[in-house]
Amino acid sequence: MTKYMKSKLIDSYGRIAKKLRVSVTDKCNMRCGYCMPKNNTKWFDSTEVLTFEEIVRLSSIFANLGVDKIRLTGGEPLLRPSIENLIKSIANIQHIKNIGLTTNGLLLLDKVEALKSSGLDSVNISLDSFNEQRFRTITGINGLNKVLSSIQKAKDAGIDVKLNTVVVRGWNDDEVVEFANFARCTGITVRFIEFMPLDGTGIWRSDLVFSKKEMVEKIESKFGKIFAVSEQEISAPAKLYSFSDRVGTIGFIPSVTEPFCNQCDRIRLTSDGKFLTCLFDNPGYEIKSFLRGGASDEEISQYLVRYMTMKQEGVVSLIRINGLKPKLNLMHTIGG
Ligand code: SAM
Ligand code: SF4
Repeated sequence: MTKYMKSKLIDSYGRIAKKLRVSVTDKCNMRCGYCMPKNNTKWFDSTEVLTFEEIVRLSSIFANLGVDKIRLTGGEPLLRPSIENLIKSIANIQHIKNIGLTTNGLLLLDKVEALKSSGLDSVNISLDSFNEQRFRTITGINGLNKVLSSIQKAKDAGIDVKLNTVVVRGWNDDEVVEFANFARCTGITVRFIEFMPLDGTGIWRSDLVFSKKEMVEKIESKFGKIFAVSEQEISAPAKLYSFSDRVGTIGFIPSVTEPFCNQCDRIRLTSDGKFLTCLFDNPGYEIKSFLRGGASDEEISQYLVRYMTMKQEGVVSLIRINGLKPKLNLMHTIGG
């Protein structure tokens, strides 16, 4: 065990980073309107993207600094061939207690078994509509049935499955009740996410944000009062709720209308090797050049600890100072 383990990733507001999100690729096989640039997506050159060995080395450095949960994301993480090998290696890192994956589900069906045996603990699958035509309009792809089958298969395999649903006013806010009903019928937690100004085309506008408050109103008008589940069950950043009959769990990620920056315990690594202390860090801190330039683990740790102290207050201060504007960052390069 190395000596520098005592250092912790703590910022000037006293927040300690425990969860690392690793974007393994900026590429995607969907074109969700709230995420990807519409035209001319310029992908990172393959030599710019971190190799599995580099990701494992950095994950282990982060683990020594106190990170205990890692989530792989993208772009679409299942586009990286043999991602199960990466998961296996991360699962072997001391101190890592949980490995998750966030996917659009298009390539998941054939991967469920391999992912399960690699040591994956949980999968968040993104789905914004149960209507085939609308699914295509939002994502640019005819894939609803594939995603639904993937959800079922992952659940049957015993993986902890959650749904991520971005709600955009006028796009899918009329399906909120249907998603809540899905949570009740399947036992799968559905997490409703407010639209953030992280899309590539710059379509974000404040009036497109369908707020948590509005979602709760719709859901309660159908199912009656919902109530927050007990502290222990709260899985940050989603605030979890259940129904009066206790059947089903739903969550809300109200990043725009009720930001939770003061409880943030997340940090991010982009696929081209930048360290982001916040979703809204731009451009982030270059780490790959240290990795490829022969820096020791201890030196890299020192950089990470120093960058962490520079973490800003978060979206909460952006809102306070200038208000939110479109295109503050690019979700598909950061990993949501
Ligand atoms: N491709 C994978 C997927 O879609 O699940 C992983 C990457 S995606 C960037 C991660 C999550 O970010 C998804 O649940 C997606 O719906 C969400 N997301 C993307 N753009 C967003 C935005 N502008 N506001 C809120 N959530 C967003
Ligand atoms: Fe791709 Fe996920 Fe972004 Fe949709 S949300 S375009 S699936 S990265």
